[in-house]
Amino acid sequence: MDEKMYEGKAKILYKTNDINVSLMHFKDDITAGDGDKHDTMTNKGKLNCTISKKIFEYLEKQRGIPTHYISSPATNEQLVKKLHILPIEVIVRNIAAGSICKRYNLRKGHTFKTPLIELFYKDDELHDPLVRDDVIIEMNWCSASELSEIKKQAHIIHNKMTEYWKSYELTLVDAKYEFGIDTEGNIMLADEITPDSCRLWDKDGCSLDKDVFRQGTDMDKVSTVYNYIHDMIHADPIE
Ligand code: C5P
Repeated sequence: MDEKMYEGKAKILYKTNDINVSLMHFKDDITAGDGDKHDTMTNKGKLNCTISKKIFEYLEKQRGIPTHYISSPATNEQLVKKLHILPIEVIVRNIAAGSICKRYNLRKGHTFKTPLIELFYKDDELHDPLVRDDVIIEMNWCSASELSEIKKQAHIIHNKMTEYWKSYELTLVDAKYEFGIDTEGNIMLADEITPDSCRLWDKDGCSLDKDVFRQGTDMDKVSTVYNYIHDMIHADPIE
């Protein structure tokens, strides 16, 4: 077994024989509310790994977006470029839902004039607080130019993903993106794009993402949603 480098709530990162490559294992765990709510879902690791693989390949090959994805040696594993992951979650919102509604007493469903970026500091103990740009730079979590680059890339990626989901008649409400830097200083998309990391609404405003787990108890329903997204993007590949 390769040496474990990092274990998160939904994934484990292992070292490989190649110092430039890591192995990312997708777990069957599903969590919400900062880990307070936890369950496991049969095949979740495989579903999320395969969904993310498909989307990262699409972004890289069809849209020229650099990502950490290399290949998928097993249905719940990916080989990815070893990067220095910036400890910043870049959330881009088209429509108000989730934490921003509570923070500013906003109506769920309010459409923003333009996609809105919010930055959060990745730290479990601090519960991933919202952070301002100048705090990020002062704390050396990344440099000003890196911050400007990840915001620029996040806008481009989010725009492509909004179009992508729209082609399946789904509305991208919001999404979280993470970025890393390789040894040559190139900044690229990392982590995953799955129903764990974004909100998707169908034409009737029904959630097809982790909100089904956050708001409910029926694991069969959660499983149906993840399987639906998986089957949808594999049945009709967008060229
Ligand atoms: O919780 P909040 O409303 O701020 O989440 C915004 C978006 O970011 C949602 O799509 C959520 O699934 C995603 N997110 C995430 N990981 C986190 C926090 C939020 O994928 N740690």
